[in-house]
Amino acid sequence: MKQRLPVQGAQGDLLRLVATGRAESRADLARLSGLAASSVSLRVEELIEAGLLAEEGSGPSRGGRRPRRLSLAPAAGVLAVADLGAHHVRLGLLDLSGAPLVVEERPCEIADGPEATLDLMAEAFDRLLEEHVPPTVPLRGVGTGIPGPVDPATQRVVTPSRMPGWNEFPVAEHLRARYDLPILVENDANLMAAGEARSWPGQENLMVLKVGTGIGCGVIVNGRLHRGRGAAGDISHVRVLSDSSVICACGHHDCLEAYASGAALATALTDAGVTVSHTSDIVGLVNDAVPEATSMVRTAGRRIGEVLTVLVNFFNPDVVAVGGSLSAAEPLITSIRAAVYERCLPLATRDLEIAPARAGRDAALLGAGSLLLDAALSPSA
Ligand SMILES: [Zn+2]
Repeated sequence: MKQRLPVQGAQGDLLRLVATGRAESRADLARLSGLAASSVSLRVEELIEAGLLAEEGSGPSRGGRRPRRLSLAPAAGVLAVADLGAHHVRLGLLDLSGAPLVVEERPCEIADGPEATLDLMAEAFDRLLEEHVPPTVPLRGVGTGIPGPVDPATQRVVTPSRMPGWNEFPVAEHLRARYDLPILVENDANLMAAGEARSWPGQENLMVLKVGTGIGCGVIVNGRLHRGRGAAGDISHVRVLSDSSVICACGHHDCLEAYASGAALATALTDAGVTVSHTSDIVGLVNDAVPEATSMVRTAGRRIGEVLTVLVNFFNPDVVAVGGSLSAAEPLITSIRAAVYERCLPLATRDLEIAPARAGRDAALLGAGSLLLDAALSPSA
């Protein structure tokens, strides 16, 4: 018998404990869940029967009878996850423990609109499933990151910049019409933060910056993604102090994004006579020690750092992790650090780590897997 996700209640809790690697035996499950050993055994049997858990007799013995080792059944299922950027999509399949099975990147213009973009994504998912997953292994959920604000209540995109046609588009409904499964639609910086948090064990409060074509920030509070009403962490339209007056895509003057994003730097460099077509070109220019590029990236880092001083004092995180395509430019992070350490309260920075993001290019995909599994296995799902 194959059981569909979501798996609710205690079964979902037990499955999640195994999926996240925290429990490897029925004894672990009893200890961590607080359920009686007999209830754990009953539910484990049900999960094995449902094809979701596997149990083998290879656990290390602690003197008595050798405990049987629990793991996710290899055929328990896969998750299809994507991270949409302005000009590309990175997508792949994960197993239910969140480990990538296959990941690829392909060109994709988000400005082509939601239907064309989501259909291209779904066709890529279908092909990956056909090529990499046996037909007996079910797809359990689909998740995507969006480079714009997402209302967590409706999973719709709300007033995004540079995404014509996406405002209020029902992304989740569109995907659900194709996949009758748990669907996750989430802001890309939030996904990146959820993925990055897995790389900082023991650190519960993080700000994860994504500095690419735009600027985003995901906030992890007490180990969990903080969404607020959907706009939490959105630092891109904070006003910065400036002598000039630049109009942002949002219509206001002097937003951080209008000065310090990859898109803003690309425009400024092009105006200065240095040809740039993508944000990654800026990193190349900095590495080649082109003075205009290095100077602009340094200024961008200082502006981002100035905005962060307020946030670090207020939120007092353990870690500020900096990712996104522009983060590979060394002067960015050093100037962020300099601004934060100069202006923040000593107590706020004493144990603060400001560091490059650790989770790598698949951070958002890993975050999508983790949130999708949370949603599919939560007691209230
Ligand atoms: Zn703005």
